[in-house]
Amino acid sequence: MSKTVTINPATGEKVAEYERISPEEVKKKVAQSNITFNSWKKRSYEERAKLMHKLAEVLDDNREEYAQLATEEMGKTIGQSRKEIEKCAWICRYYADNTSTLLANRTVETEATKSYVTFQPIGVVLAVMPWNFPFYQVIRFAVPALMAGNVGVLKHASNVQGCAIALEGAFAKAGFPEGAFTNLNVSSNLVKEVIENDNIVAVTLTGSDPAGRSVASIAGQNLKKTVMELGGSDAYVILDDADLEEATDLATFGRLQNNGQTCIAAKRFVVLDAIYDEFMGLFAKKMKAAKMGDPTDDDTYYGPMARADLRDELHGQVEKTLSQGGKLVLGGTIPERKGAYYPATILADLEPGMEGFDNELFGPVASVIRAKDEKDAIELANNSQFGLGSGVITGDKERGERVALKLEAGSSFVNKLVVSDPRLPFGGVKNSGYGRELSGYGIREFVNTKTIWIN
Ligand code: NAP
Repeated sequence: MSKTVTINPATGEKVAEYERISPEEVKKKVAQSNITFNSWKKRSYEERAKLMHKLAEVLDDNREEYAQLATEEMGKTIGQSRKEIEKCAWICRYYADNTSTLLANRTVETEATKSYVTFQPIGVVLAVMPWNFPFYQVIRFAVPALMAGNVGVLKHASNVQGCAIALEGAFAKAGFPEGAFTNLNVSSNLVKEVIENDNIVAVTLTGSDPAGRSVASIAGQNLKKTVMELGGSDAYVILDDADLEEATDLATFGRLQNNGQTCIAAKRFVVLDAIYDEFMGLFAKKMKAAKMGDPTDDDTYYGPMARADLRDELHGQVEKTLSQGGKLVLGGTIPERKGAYYPATILADLEPGMEGFDNELFGPVASVIRAKDEKDAIELANNSQFGLGSGVITGDKERGERVALKLEAGSSFVNKLVVSDPRLPFGGVKNSGYGRELSGYGIREFVNTKTIWIN
């Protein structure tokens, strides 16, 4: 059997190797998941919630160990890794406390004696997950799925197998039955066979648009429901009445958080002409001052990218943008040091047709775009194949809300960076995918929304 190898992106050194499992082992594990489903689905919300609260405790108790592991495997700063684990515990508690309300029967008055909608679990759900939030992305899928009465199998990104194993261990420590949450260490080539397995009823994928297209088409051939959380190139419109100190604080953190590798990171900054030069001066100063370094140091602002090949790909996109007429304001050179580092970079005066405008830059590179006025800014923001998140920075909240409503995205935030929150739905439009995660909308994606009519 082949192995997955984890390389610490901060040092370039090998961390660990993990044996992949064979197709026969996959079949056995999925069969076990299905057996577990048949008893798990009969448990009450209260019983499931008890275990979910235990899982929150396990995450709290092991926060430091899990955070160190995430940082070692994919390079995010240790402070952000700790916050990721805390957020996972929050999601567990949110669904433990709210599922019975979110999935309560809905009475619908008709001519029947009694008619209502009930939400029943559907079976084993496959999740294909990315490395960028190696704990959170999995928890975001698994917790509502299990609370609804489903069970989950995970195909995690190859470079974060340690996190995948730790997650499987966390569910076991919390007391979930074997087969409720199962890690499958398989290559992406085997995903087709997993989807085709009769015991898999639905698939959710968080990752790139090509991976999403492939998985969705295989699932479509097999008539299995999918939720797709794909890439983004979130536009932030900076209006001419914005407080530019605050706007550039948000822009700097928004672009560099998670070492620039967040689907909903602020990526394209559409700035009104009247304030463009002033914005750029402050933004460049703050991006330059942000400290790049060892992600285990508490004072590091951003660390390396997750893999050297991803860093090289990003650098290629920067060079392509410059060859197309984009202007380099900051960064743009691969540093001479070990690890997959890339410096905070600003590309300016970008226009449609340029790489940095049209495609996602998944790393610490900001695309800045000049807009004539508010209307032009909205058009430029919406001129994208993606529609995950979006933002408006303004001194006038009502104006901000008017603009937010016109942005084509799954979320639009005014004077705040887009964040996911278990109480609110999360997802995209256009090539950013479809379906929703989190909140009542998310938990109802993988249930049988069933009509009961009694005469
Ligand atoms: P990726 O290359 O698409 O990988 C994501 C997952 O899909 C991994 O487990 C990967 O496995 C697997 N995979 C890749 N190609 C596949 C295929 N053809 N068939 C089946 N599985 C396949 O994405 P990534 O580089 O890890 O993550 C970055 C992308 O994810 C960005 O575009 C980012 O915006 C997006 N993202 C979106 C969200 C959201 O909520 N919308 C959140 C986070 C990230 P291997 O590792 O084994 O290749």
